[in-house]
Amino acid sequence: MISIQNHIEPNRCVRCGICKSLCPTYLTALDESMGARGRVALLRGLDEGKLKPTKNLSEKVFSCLLCEACKGICPVGLDIPEIIYQGRRSLRRSFSRGKLLRKAIRLSIHRMDTAFILLRLFHKLFYQPLYRKGMVSYLPPVTQKPLKKIQNVFRNRKAIARVGLFMGCSVNYLYPSIGESLIDTLTKKGYEVVILSGEVCCGAPLRSIGFENEMIPLAKRNIELFKNIKAKAIISLCPTCTMVIRTQYPSLTGDGIPNIMDVNEFFINYNILKGLRTEQKTVTYHDPCHLNYGLGITEEPRKILIGIEGIRFVEMKNSQDCCGFGGLFSSLFRELSIDIGRKKVESIKKTGAQTVVTSCPGCIMQLEGLKKLIGIDIDIMHIIELIDEAMN
Ligand code: SF4
Ligand code: SF4
Repeated sequence: MISIQNHIEPNRCVRCGICKSLCPTYLTALDESMGARGRVALLRGLDEGKLKPTKNLSEKVFSCLLCEACKGICPVGLDIPEIIYQGRRSLRRSFSRGKLLRKAIRLSIHRMDTAFILLRLFHKLFYQPLYRKGMVSYLPPVTQKPLKKIQNVFRNRKAIARVGLFMGCSVNYLYPSIGESLIDTLTKKGYEVVILSGEVCCGAPLRSIGFENEMIPLAKRNIELFKNIKAKAIISLCPTCTMVIRTQYPSLTGDGIPNIMDVNEFFINYNILKGLRTEQKTVTYHDPCHLNYGLGITEEPRKILIGIEGIRFVEMKNSQDCCGFGGLFSSLFRELSIDIGRKKVESIKKTGAQTVVTSCPGCIMQLEGLKKLIGIDIDIMHIIELIDEAMN
């Protein structure tokens, strides 16, 4: 039995198919079992005892990106991503892909500093030949200086307020320059910025591989840590961290970090973007799934871009389509991830923009990988990097 809660009972599905109309894995693989409705049907069969937890069935349930495009659109009120999370909990042993990688994630998630030192060594010694042979996905170099190394307070003598940063693992270890841009921008605008060395992974990777129970202590640790600093907001540069903290921590732990905010929300809500100016360029925007479908934040980044003098903003067709990253998905289902990404690259190319801006380090990683693989002459930036550039 998967659950007794109404919104996660797959047997309530009336098979209307609305959920698969936005499902990127279905729209690319064109296979019912690789789509939202198919996955719900498989989990219903499992729930009712008509299907067995086979390797093949698990494969379909784990091939979901957890992009949330299907969340909130089911006419009978099913929460499909939640059904998939529950399904993964019961299928994690029968899913065979990437067993070693998943084990490594479970072991390393409590020791991220050590894990990323090892990943940096791997990147230096073995990554390039494996990448050239197509055996591993794109991985940017791992920094020697993670941003969260020590507890940092960037003071401002006349601070207008204090803000905390939820750094997230990808910014901390892979894209620290994005975090530096945020610190620069906020301090220039008169904020005192606090980074907490005790921050741990938000837990999203553990939940995605079916270990929800092991995620809860991480969530509680972050909640304790961030609740104790007096800050106007806790700003995050990663939509997955923001979404998980805002929408999943409360139901999983009964508690949360109430002032967690995406960077776009913070800059628009506190109206701190006046006088931004950059060199003339044409820019388009890619909506990260967890920011768009997960948090409903789509207007804020556009307002920011349109407000920067020198930018000609061009809307991309299907800007809300997934780039195919999905965290571990891009490694475990590499070909499908690239096929989904190819469509995104085509949409980007058609805009004729010089720069594609997004608000997610994961999407940046995927777009950089696609740029290398498919070839596309375009700059890829996190929105905070562009804001920082326009403030200077
Ligand atoms: S979360 Fe995304 S990939 Fe998964 S079933 Fe829903 S729409 Fe499809
Ligand atoms: S939208 Fe809801 S009812 Fe319709 S197929 Fe999907 S899960 Fe079933």
